Amino acid sequence: MYKDTYKGIFCTQLQTPVPKDDADVPQALHALAQILEQEHQNISAFILEPLIQCAGNMHFYGADFVKQATQMCQERGILVIFDEIAVGFGRTGSLFAYQQCGVKPDFLCLSKGITGGYLPLAVVLTSDAIYDKFYAPYAQNKSFLHSHSYTGNALACACANATLDLFGQGVVEQNKMLSRYIQTCMQEQLAPLKGVKNLRTCGMVFAFELEGYQGSKRLSLAVYQKGLEFGLLLRPLGNTIYFMPPYTISPDEVLKSVGAMAGIVRALT
Ligand SMILES: *Cc1c(COP(=O)(O)O)cnc(C)c1O
Repeated sequence: MYKDTYKGIFCTQLQTPVPKDDADVPQALHALAQILEQEHQNISAFILEPLIQCAGNMHFYGADFVKQATQMCQERGILVIFDEIAVGFGRTGSLFAYQQCGVKPDFLCLSKGITGGYLPLAVVLTSDAIYDKFYAPYAQNKSFLHSHSYTGNALACACANATLDLFGQGVVEQNKMLSRYIQTCMQEQLAPLKGVKNLRTCGMVFAFELEGYQGSKRLSLAVYQKGLEFGLLLRPLGNTIYFMPPYTISPDEVLKSVGAMAGIVRALT
C-alpha cells in the first residue's frame, strides 16, 4: 500500500511473502527460494527488517527465518540490507536485532534510536569492501559520488554520542526487566479482554490485534481518538495496536498506559 504512489518510478522490486509468525516460516522460505532460483541474476540486494516487520503490521518472525533468508541470498552473491531503523538500539532485546540471528548483513540501516529520537540522524554501516567502492579512483570515474548537505551534522552526532553513552551504562540489560514487567501488566490487564488477540512481545515492542470492533469509523482512527481521551497517543496499523515505549518509562507510567489501553479496548469492543 505504501508503495503504490511510487509505482513506475523505482527500479523493479520483487516481493517475497512475509511470515506473519513462526508457522509461516517454511512457506516464506520456500517462496524466497523460488524467487532466487528464477531471478537471482537480476537481483542486486535483499532488504529485510530483522525479527519484526514494523510498519507492515508488527509481524514477529524468529531469528531462524532471518538467518536462513540471509544465507540463501548471500550464497548467491546477493547483498543483504537489514533495515534496523525501527528495531536497532535495543528494541528487540539486543543492541541490534541481527545479533540474535547468527548472520551479518552487508548493509545495516540505523536511525530513530541512535539519537534517542531527539534529533534526525541516519547511518548506514557496511563492510570495508563496499565502503571502499565509494573511494575508488576519482579519475577513473569509478568512485560512487554520493553525499548530503548535512552529512555528519555536528549537533545530531553529539546527540548520538550522548545516547550511545547511555547504552554503555547497561540500558539493554535493564530493559529485560522492564520488558518483563510490561509483559506481566499486559497479561493481567489486556490478555483477558475478548477484543485482544495475539498479544505478543519482542524485547521492548508489544503488540496485539483488536477484534470485534463494530464502529463506523476507521478502526485506527477510532483507537487514536479514544487514545487521546485516555491520555495516550497511539498510531495503530490497521487493527494492530502496538506499544514501543521509551526506555525511560517508569513503572507508574506503564500501569497508566496499559490501563488506558485496556480502557480503549473496552470502549471499542
Ligand atoms: C521510520 C522507518 C523508516 C524511515 O526512515 P527515514 O530515516 O525516516 O527515511 C524506514 N524503515 C523503518 C523500519 C522505519 O521504522
